[in-house]
Amino acid sequence: MQPQTETHTLGDYDVTVVVTAPPYYENCMVVRHRPSGAKVIVDPGAGAAGILAAAQKMPGDVVAVLLTHGHPDHIASLAEVAAVTGAPVFAHRAEQVVLDAADEWGQALLGRPVPVPEVKYFDDEPTLDMMGGIRVVTTPGHTPGGVCFVFDGFAMTGDTLFMQGIGRTDFPGGDSRQLAASIRRFLDSVPGDTVLFSGHGPEWAAADAQKWWQAMGPMMA
Ligand SMILES: [Zn+2]
Ligand SMILES: [Zn+2]
Repeated sequence: MQPQTETHTLGDYDVTVVVTAPPYYENCMVVRHRPSGAKVIVDPGAGAAGILAAAQKMPGDVVAVLLTHGHPDHIASLAEVAAVTGAPVFAHRAEQVVLDAADEWGQALLGRPVPVPEVKYFDDEPTLDMMGGIRVVTTPGHTPGGVCFVFDGFAMTGDTLFMQGIGRTDFPGGDSRQLAASIRRFLDSVPGDTVLFSGHGPEWAAADAQKWWQAMGPMMA
């Protein structure tokens, strides 16, 4: 069965959201930068075939696989996607503790171990030198090394922030106060017309998220 996909054109970019297999329906994103022809795949969850098909539909080379974090619903097909595309995998150094335990996490949440290929860990908040520059905002709280990726006009918020919701913090390494501080920092760092693509569920506008967080944030901190 082909997964549900939807493609958005945003400035110089095409963003295809691939809704991956149940039970998590995680959103994997394929982003293409039209001027350079480069593509990245963000959070390859369950169903390598559907993700690779979505990537192949857009011309150009996959230059990287980016991870907002290392939970198994976001990396279920990481090894296969990395092997087929040959693209390097990037994650924050503080997330290594989660990725090193992918077999245990996978066993607990998917009922099977999840293989992890070689990962290039970055520190702090770099701007990744690809596709016109991808700004990293570190947003620990859902996991220790969770990040958001900010492109020109849109961002990937992983399980840090959903449409009118925030990531759970009851897993090992979660911290609700830290998550609240991360969400504030992230929302303060993006213009209101930024489209926010999250790890599960629909996208929404940063202006709506900022307004929502102004009301909800103080209760969740
Ligand atoms: Zn997660
Ligand atoms: Zn998730």
